[in-house]
Amino acid sequence: APVVARIAAGEVIERPASVVKELVENALDAGARQIRIDVQGGGLALIRVSDDGCGIPADQMPLACARHATSKLPDDDLEQVRTLGFRGEALPSIATVAELTLVSATDNSGVGHRLVLRGGSVAVSEPAPRSRGTTVTVRHLFQNVPARLASCGRPQTEIREISQTVRRLALAAPHVRMSLYIDGRLTLHTDGGGDLGEALVAVYGAALSGRLIPLGPIEVASARIAGVVAGPEVTRPGRGQITFIVNGRAVQPRGLLAQVETAYRPVLPRGRHPVLAVTIDVPPGLVDINIHPAKLEVRLRAEREIGAAIGEMIRDALGRQPLPLRA
Ligand code: ADP
Ligand code: MG
Repeated sequence: APVVARIAAGEVIERPASVVKELVENALDAGARQIRIDVQGGGLALIRVSDDGCGIPADQMPLACARHATSKLPDDDLEQVRTLGFRGEALPSIATVAELTLVSATDNSGVGHRLVLRGGSVAVSEPAPRSRGTTVTVRHLFQNVPARLASCGRPQTEIREISQTVRRLALAAPHVRMSLYIDGRLTLHTDGGGDLGEALVAVYGAALSGRLIPLGPIEVASARIAGVVAGPEVTRPGRGQITFIVNGRAVQPRGLLAQVETAYRPVLPRGRHPVLAVTIDVPPGLVDINIHPAKLEVRLRAEREIGAAIGEMIRDALGRQPLPLRA
């Protein structure tokens, strides 16, 4: 079946955090080294994501906003997907529920192009100053969809979701410098140095500093596994700070979660959960990408084996002393 038919239809954009996720993933796919995210009014007033990636050629900007137009899938094979995007649904979906502005340039000549879409159609198309990269601005989200607007929480709730989304994206891309500004205030940033431990400290707080124990790297079932775990004295009331990164995507495969919790059980108080991030890189053919309308599930073919190895690594790590992180 053609790719489009294998992809579950439906809205990608559930709430402001979904917009942030899609735009940041596009920036990552564009090879950005720096990504700045600005949010106003809980994301319902404004979301802006700026990157220094490859940019979009002026003549391809309208196409980028057309449904099922993606520049990313080299052939019809979902099993070979390496990029985060491949559906060509995010920009067109956003354009139907918000005002969408793209400013982009593919080189540093200083001249780029601006495209503004209102009600899904082009309202402005003109040259604009811009260094290499892309800035996408989303204004008045869901203003034309009262039901969606009503189902969004108060700005504080949406900001919590957005922040959690950005944390997970930042952990999945520690080599990218990421910053999040909420109503003009810098609330989160990573240095882009590429170290997962540093990124974990940056997103979940300095209290983790000096309490992280490295895992691996090891190789199991064609998977390369590496990560960092906090010592048992660092606990959380929920599982929100357990992150698995499979081929560059932050995901939560249930089986792996269970194995990790089992490994920690002897050292954690009941009802408390650990802080850790584990990166798993496998050949694309060994992951199943199962697409839901709004979320994306990833299942590892060798999940049991990989989970057992991670559990073993954690038990081993918990018997060692935390290493002080480099300053
Ligand atoms: P997908 O990511 O699945 O391809 P999107 O709707 O998210 O679909 O984006 C459509 C296209 O727009 C992408 O395939 C890409 O060519 C282009 N694009 C979007 N955002 C960026 C960006 N930040 N930098 C460069 N190109 C981008
Ligand atoms: Mg995309």
